[in-house]
Amino acid sequence: MKSSRIEAALHEADTTREVLIGRGSMDSIEAVLSRHFGDGAAMIVADENTHAAAGQEVIARLQSAGREASAGMIFPGAPTLHPDIEHVEALQARLSSTTAIPVAVGSETINDLTKLAAHRCGRPYLIVATAASMDGYTAFAAAITHQGVKMIDDCAAPRALVADLDVLARAPAAMTAAGYGDLLGKVVAGADWMLADALGIEALDLRAWSLVGPYLREWTGNPGGLAGGDPQALESLIEGLVMSGLAMQAARSSRPASGSEHLFSHLWEMQGVTHDGQSASHGFKVGLGTLAAAALFDGILARDLTHLDLKKALGGWPSRATVEREALAAHPDPVQAVHAVENSLAKHVEAGELASRLSRLARLWPDLRERLQSQLLPAQELRRLLAQAACPTTPEAIGVSRAALRRSYLLSRQIRSRYTVLDLAAECGLMQEGLESLFSPGGFWHAVD
Ligand SMILES: [Zn+2]
Repeated sequence: MKSSRIEAALHEADTTREVLIGRGSMDSIEAVLSRHFGDGAAMIVADENTHAAAGQEVIARLQSAGREASAGMIFPGAPTLHPDIEHVEALQARLSSTTAIPVAVGSETINDLTKLAAHRCGRPYLIVATAASMDGYTAFAAAITHQGVKMIDDCAAPRALVADLDVLARAPAAMTAAGYGDLLGKVVAGADWMLADALGIEALDLRAWSLVGPYLREWTGNPGGLAGGDPQALESLIEGLVMSGLAMQAARSSRPASGSEHLFSHLWEMQGVTHDGQSASHGFKVGLGTLAAAALFDGILARDLTHLDLKKALGGWPSRATVEREALAAHPDPVQAVHAVENSLAKHVEAGELASRLSRLARLWPDLRERLQSQLLPAQELRRLLAQAACPTTPEAIGVSRAALRRSYLLSRQIRSRYTVLDLAAECGLMQEGLESLFSPGGFWHAVD
């Protein structure tokens, strides 16, 4: 498939030159390599599962085209491979011992490990996607865990991506559902960005957002079809995920694809949350985070912030010392606690600045509320969509209790300096009562059982 949207997005991307999505696009793997990487040997990076799913086929195809190709680094298939810095270092050492072209065959973890290792070796890489499970394929950075803390490592996006719809269709259904959760999160991410833009905190990059925003309803509009194996719905999903990645590449920031919904997900990942001994996928966590953030947005949008009680908001506003003390106390892991302090302080404003921000908010509110409403969907509607896509819709299903979810609203806010609805709620003095109503009888999180 030559998607005109993707072709247009590639013009905005600085690293990725070609994206090949379609049935049988594996047939073109040798052509893609020779177009963008020359005729050197190819070194496949995969885990045992993705090697069986597509890695062996890639090697066979390249070899039959006369290219030297081998299984350079195949990680164990179980237990689940995590994007730990130690794996990046091992892969970097392996890559440095050759001049081969890195060909990653897999999804999030394999892609992120290869992305950073190849970047550190100063070498471009090709990714062969094995699941429509997240949007990171074409993003410019990698999410890597360093000493228990999830960091975003700056590194170049892949030079090319091959996504064969036949390969994606064979991926476990839960991985495709996870991709849907990750994509649906852009509904909240876009609203968070609009908020930060309106308050003069972080400008909305229209060039980047126009690659995602206008198509979001279309891409996420057929969750039932996706769960039922409809090829058109799968193609729509992978297009949305790839476009989200290209938007991040264009913006040089994850902002177009990641807001408060991802903060919940990152927090639960850092906390090592598990359900039945298994950590839920990124997309499932993002799906839950999307519901959490959207439910908070619903409560705020129902208010008239043109008449906000400024005295009350400013009266309860914490000092820097209090912010630091609370962030330190909230995260038991010392490295994570220091990280939370840094990020919380980075976005903390003094009471005077908050007062002018809230006045600005009051002035802008009628127009801003309208824009947020057209970007967002009500949390109830998002829950229905996630359920149709076979994504979890209760926190317990990913190993988070109601009490932990309630606390997550406060902790998620602390782990990144990015401005989101979590900050808006806190700055307006509405967080505590917002949570009270969400978790009380009749509230969004009380009703789901
Ligand atoms: Zn994501």
